[in-house]
Amino acid sequence: MHIEVDSHTHTVASGHAYSTLAENVQAAAARGIKLLAITDHGPAMPGAPHFWFFKNMRVIPRIMHGVGILRGIEANIVNFKGELDIDHDTRRHLDIVLASLHEPIITPATKTLHTDGVIQAMASGHIDVFAHGGNPAFPIDIEEVAKAAARYKVLVEINNSSFTTSRPGSEKNCAALAEAVGRHNGLLTFGSDAHIADKVGVFAECLAFIKNLGFPEKQVINGSGRSFLHFLQTKNKPADLSELESLFPG
Ligand SMILES: [Zn+2]
Ligand SMILES: [Zn+2]
Repeated sequence: MHIEVDSHTHTVASGHAYSTLAENVQAAAARGIKLLAITDHGPAMPGAPHFWFFKNMRVIPRIMHGVGILRGIEANIVNFKGELDIDHDTRRHLDIVLASLHEPIITPATKTLHTDGVIQAMASGHIDVFAHGGNPAFPIDIEEVAKAAARYKVLVEINNSSFTTSRPGSEKNCAALAEAVGRHNGLLTFGSDAHIADKVGVFAECLAFIKNLGFPEKQVINGSGRSFLHFLQTKNKPADLSELESLFPG
């Protein structure tokens, strides 16, 4: 399976990542990535950029080195009501919003509260991707989250870094989550969660993971840049993504 989209990457702007946007784009082009989401951490994360960074992403060309750029954010779920660390005015400048639970921002509580926070973020219509949901630091009701993801049209991320450098012990939860997403006819997205250009578009662990699981490739949306773009366009965003259609002729 060839992966055309990396839906989760960081640049130096995140404060604890090491490559520039230009370096990430070059790495993506070299790996045959067609759509690259630039998703630096939301403003609540220590070291993350000011919200002006996200509002000004319109200065980034839509296409660089033949790679379509998605202006994004990895927003923080800041409470168990599912609120994010960006407001409407910032969000309307963005093509893709990931939402995550991060320990520096929200203290782990109970499975019920984590689940409430995630489902309410999904139901708000403000997010496109629920990122690294297999993190054992934040146990969730997998069945309910998978059901909500399908219902509210939110992609569930399988995060390549969760199998390598981050969030140890994620595998079992990721497998249960993927299985439930498959059963509820939801969609998975692969994110490298690269914090250095070297890892942009690298999905060896994700690919081995779905192979082991026997997960249907057609429910992994990153296999097709065209499908991914179409998914975003159905989400009623103010951003005009039509320029990216030229990447997928015919
Ligand atoms: Zn994260
Ligand atoms: Zn990340």
